[in-house]
Amino acid sequence: MTWEIVIGLEVHTQLLTQSKIFSGASTVFGGTPNAQACAVDIALPGVLPVLNRVAVERAVKFGLAVGAKINSPSIFARKNYFYPDLPKGYQISQYELPIVEGGCIKILTGRDNNEREKIVRLTRAHLEEDAGKSLHEDFHGMTGIDLNRAGTPLLEIVSEPDMRSSMEAVTFAKTLHSLVRWIGISDGNMEEGSFRCDANVSVRRLGDDKLGTRREIKNLNSFRFLQQAIDYESGLQISILENGGKIRQATVLFDADKRETHVMRSKEDAHDYRYFPDPDLLPLEISQDLINEIMKSMPELPMWRYYRFIARDVDKYKLLIEKQTDIYPLQQSSAYLKFGVEEIYALSKYDATMLTADKSTADYFEEVVEIVGSKNAKLCANWVIGEVAARLNQNNEYITISPVSAKQLAELILRICDGTISGKIAKDIFGAMWHGEHGSSADTIIEEKGLRQISNSDEIRRLVDVVLIDNPHQVSDFCKGKEKAFNFLVGQVMKVTKGKASPAKVNEILQEKLDRKKHG
Ligand code: ADP
Ligand code: MG
Repeated sequence: MTWEIVIGLEVHTQLLTQSKIFSGASTVFGGTPNAQACAVDIALPGVLPVLNRVAVERAVKFGLAVGAKINSPSIFARKNYFYPDLPKGYQISQYELPIVEGGCIKILTGRDNNEREKIVRLTRAHLEEDAGKSLHEDFHGMTGIDLNRAGTPLLEIVSEPDMRSSMEAVTFAKTLHSLVRWIGISDGNMEEGSFRCDANVSVRRLGDDKLGTRREIKNLNSFRFLQQAIDYESGLQISILENGGKIRQATVLFDADKRETHVMRSKEDAHDYRYFPDPDLLPLEISQDLINEIMKSMPELPMWRYYRFIARDVDKYKLLIEKQTDIYPLQQSSAYLKFGVEEIYALSKYDATMLTADKSTADYFEEVVEIVGSKNAKLCANWVIGEVAARLNQNNEYITISPVSAKQLAELILRICDGTISGKIAKDIFGAMWHGEHGSSADTIIEEKGLRQISNSDEIRRLVDVVLIDNPHQVSDFCKGKEKAFNFLVGQVMKVTKGKASPAKVNEILQEKLDRKKHG
């Protein structure tokens, strides 16, 4: 019997604001405990919440980016529960009327993450405040409460149960993570808790149309844990069902060391929270003017940029963009046409996926191509995805910290294009630039280290002659038909020149000389 895994995600994204969602206290991470908790955050009697305008604008921006409906009015509600890190005894959230409703995210799934497109529908996204944090260490056996996080603005994004594997769930989470960073509403810093996922997992027999009972895995703060937790949980559910057991709805926690999930509590229902509209906050109305203004500030979104990077001609790109109107509102796609296609890069889907994983990477790439020229877009893509990304990945860094700027890289690539250096030498130079040698200009390093490619034919002829005299065995092997000897001889010439000879020229001259020996 085969099983189908069904996953829906709830993602808590911290919105990028200077102050909290209902108070003026700072949201900066890592402060002394409780130094950033004001009267509102610690719930002193008589305080009133004042809504943060920027948090609202960020939520709207997200809604527009996913083609959702922006509700006006939307309503803030009190979600009542008792917990030591929640001094008010309730969390201000949104329940019946969230600010963002519907919308969807397109993900690329399958082999190499570019085989096919899949649409994951979003149920809603609502504004809410974060709770504080209990600290169990270093308190002489007691637990301390840090309310610095209390009141931090969150956007909770809820998906429909549209994902069918842990891979798809991770791809969805990564795409969403990239999107919120891309449009600048969140820094997405997972170590600091700015992007946390709850995964709802159920299984059903293939072909069943009724969903199985789900269990919800709380607070997964890395993509790896998300994948491991879903894999464990779905496997567990399948084995329970195959052994004649039943799944009971529950909230579970993932133990990353043991790679297991454990029941935290049996699932509470909405009515347990006694939701009701917060009488301290008015219904939130959003004007069309504000929506238009936010729409205007929207950058070209990752999916559109992906289409533009793979486009092979302008008309086809336009057609693709227009087709998007079946999932994104018309108003939005016409807004994106303003980005147009001026240059055709014709990249592969793989390259485009890698380059649009992060906005700063896509920007960097285009800055390089602008200098090098779109004729060599593929070469530029190889460098950004290859050399640059490899060095950044070593420390999990974003391209914004790259010690080699887009302009510097472009100047290096130009020297490959004009034949001054070979690709191999370029990699050595890139390494030197990365470590800040010689003021990090490609031209300076080429001059100071004497790395200019030898493409002067007379000089190469002379070197080839020396190599032929030094390697009589290989030469006679070649004349007897051993083609391999040729590569050896090319290698010798490159060695003598420390890799500086133009490989094309060496090949040409060597071929010519050997042919003459063979036949004459
Ligand atoms: P809550 O967790 O607050 O009770 P919902 O009942 O709306 O909220 O469900 C939340 C999440 O659970 C959504 O992401 C939804 O897609 C997902 N979900 C609902 N039913 C299932 C199911 N049977 N299997 C997997 N995921 C589910
Ligand atoms: Mg939930």
